[in-house]
Amino acid sequence: MLKDQDRIFTNIYGMDDRSLKGAQARGHWDGTADLIGLGRDKIVEVMKASGLRGRGGAGFPTGLKWSFMPKESDGRPAYLVINADESEPGTCKDREIMRHDPHTLIEGALIASFAMGAHACYIYIRGEYIREKEALQNAIDEAYEAGFLGSDACGSGWDFDLYLHHGAGAYICGEETALIESLEGKKGMPRMKPPFPAGAGLYGCPTTVNNVESIAVVPTILRRGAEWFAGFGRPNNAGTKLFAISGHVNRPCVVEEAMSISFEELIETHCGGIRGGWDNLKAVIPGGSSVPLIPGAQMREAIMDFDYLKEQKSGLGTAAVIVMDNSTDVVKAIWRLSAFYKHESCGQCTPCREGTGWMMRVMDRLVKGDAEVEEIDMLLDVTKQVEGHTICALGDAAAWPIQGLIRHFRGEIEDRIKHKRTGRVSAVAAE
Ligand code: SF4
Repeated sequence: MLKDQDRIFTNIYGMDDRSLKGAQARGHWDGTADLIGLGRDKIVEVMKASGLRGRGGAGFPTGLKWSFMPKESDGRPAYLVINADESEPGTCKDREIMRHDPHTLIEGALIASFAMGAHACYIYIRGEYIREKEALQNAIDEAYEAGFLGSDACGSGWDFDLYLHHGAGAYICGEETALIESLEGKKGMPRMKPPFPAGAGLYGCPTTVNNVESIAVVPTILRRGAEWFAGFGRPNNAGTKLFAISGHVNRPCVVEEAMSISFEELIETHCGGIRGGWDNLKAVIPGGSSVPLIPGAQMREAIMDFDYLKEQKSGLGTAAVIVMDNSTDVVKAIWRLSAFYKHESCGQCTPCREGTGWMMRVMDRLVKGDAEVEEIDMLLDVTKQVEGHTICALGDAAAWPIQGLIRHFRGEIEDRIKHKRTGRVSAVAAE
């Protein structure tokens, strides 16, 4: 179990004072000007050495991403954009940072912006996060009043402005280029890449988009050193991480733990075990709704990190762990996700616009057993035609849960179809 002294987020449950005074008492905003004084190159170097991989789902190395930003300005300003649009079903970790420990994020925004030559940073917060927005805005106001933001931020000599932008509640705006479009006041539709944001992002200027947690851990990594952070987890999977565990565990929670913790330890230590015991575990979606599920028996052996879960043909994603016990109608659960992705498709590219609707309608019938067994393979085939053939990753996100379902629970789908024919089991209707 991660020791308390190694936790980056010391007020994640809001039990302590979240104001600037409280944050300072917990060690934040301590010597920030000195950290900036390390210089751009050194900060990026430390981030690379720490092994931090992006916490928004893709797991791209953060330091490397920062190094893509131009060293010298060609006259255009540079921007940091923080993705606080946390909308993936099951994912609820960034909200705890923003409402209970907001100064970790604000201090991180200043340092990260400096490291990328940005004098301005935008935080794009999800439309539904009203209280989180209020808490974060209060914290930003406090930081301005204290001289930690604005001109000569923290006495570092760096001028820095931080803006909080409230989204309107569209899942697709969590995709970095859709987020940029939305920030510019347009419809949140993903852009074709290239150009990548580091070349032409917000207002056509060099931009890096990072997740909330990725930025909020930066000051602590700089204070405690890259080696300290890299000391947690297996190689290539460094650091501590917020896990958000929901579903059929005895105590769902958000908790900071070391990467590469075993699934069993995570659940036993922090969630009081699986509801009804381990034999009652049916399946787990280990990284937010877009990654394929893993059957319970296989999950008992799992290590919670990027590489292990990828080997299992799933992913760590946002580390939003959705646990399903034997009471779950797993076909219906995946149908529900299909309906979500169909609803959230921006409709810009044909495989996603048509494919998500098509997949959902077949899932509608599979839930009721109202289909032919051959349609299972046809559905699988369509998921492959959508996957990798769209402008953004929403197409993949819609395809993967269905692929996971067919890979591991084909028998359950077939049984439902057969039972519907013989009338032996009442099928659960999709509503
Ligand atoms: Fe829009 Fe879907 Fe295409 Fe992404 S994959 S751009 S959400 S239509």
